[in-house]
Amino acid sequence: MIPLGPRDPGPVRPDPARLPTTPTTRFAPAPSGYLHLGHLVNAVYTWGVAAATGGRVVLRIEDHDRQRSRRAFATAILDDLERLALIPDEPTIAELRAGPSAYRQSDDPAPYAMAVATLRAQGRVYACTCPRAALLAWRGPGCPGDCRRAGLPHDLPSTALRAWLGEGEDGNGPGVESFDDLLLGTRAGDPPVGGDLTLRDRHGNWSYPLCVVVDDLRHGVDLVIRGRDLLDATPGQRRRGRLLGRATPPAFLHHPLLRKPSGAKLSKADHDTAIRDLLDGSATPADLLGFAAAAVGLVESFRPLPAAAVGTLFAP
Ligand SMILES: [Zn+2]
Repeated sequence: MIPLGPRDPGPVRPDPARLPTTPTTRFAPAPSGYLHLGHLVNAVYTWGVAAATGGRVVLRIEDHDRQRSRRAFATAILDDLERLALIPDEPTIAELRAGPSAYRQSDDPAPYAMAVATLRAQGRVYACTCPRAALLAWRGPGCPGDCRRAGLPHDLPSTALRAWLGEGEDGNGPGVESFDDLLLGTRAGDPPVGGDLTLRDRHGNWSYPLCVVVDDLRHGVDLVIRGRDLLDATPGQRRRGRLLGRATPPAFLHHPLLRKPSGAKLSKADHDTAIRDLLDGSATPADLLGFAAAAVGLVESFRPLPAAAVGTLFAP
């Protein structure tokens, strides 16, 4: 179908005995482009594990970034999922089409504002006026301007809100977070990678690291299935969940990625892999799901895989 790079090393299929029973997992695309074959790998894992374990799939439209998100892409994502017969358990696609929804981030800022208020009450939130370029280059703690110490007002225009998530001064335990990935085994990391967390950017967008934790908690997600490119973000995600009152962190499964021959992961910039274009061509939905499963090594060789059969890949 398209030329792919080498497969990610490491295990591909989780031990069925280790999978949680009746988990709630989620498929959470950002509508900044069309669904592509990389998303389809995630969909095969998400719907497949849910089907094999009696679990449920929550669909969430992650359009917290209002500059990059487009309603047209969100609509196209719903169309593509229906064509693929990848149907979420919650909410219905009709509900998402009909109007405001708790499963579309741009529809209601209140949960994110409440989370920021929680972190503010812990004394963690500060306004940051550092230029973007300086932040991107920053590798130390906090931010280059030491804005936390400056104590700027939080409501200035064109100012980012950030949160200090460090440990040690508040009795929250050691700095390293360890977790047991369902595919990769025990992993550990230090959460505050690259300085402090951005909660709200200078354009007024809630950040991905804030929204994902708030939404997984309020949507009852207890199994996060996602690509290995997000593995390093997981310690911080667990830490943020705890600071926001999550008693038990979700389980995590980080699956292999589809890569281009260069080794870079497929992205929405790779227009030749858009699901809608492939379906408008000669590919069937079962062809695309089968291709995704074979490309990461879930099956030995390509065979068509209808959506109703993705659970067989993860069954005991
Ligand atoms: Zn700053």
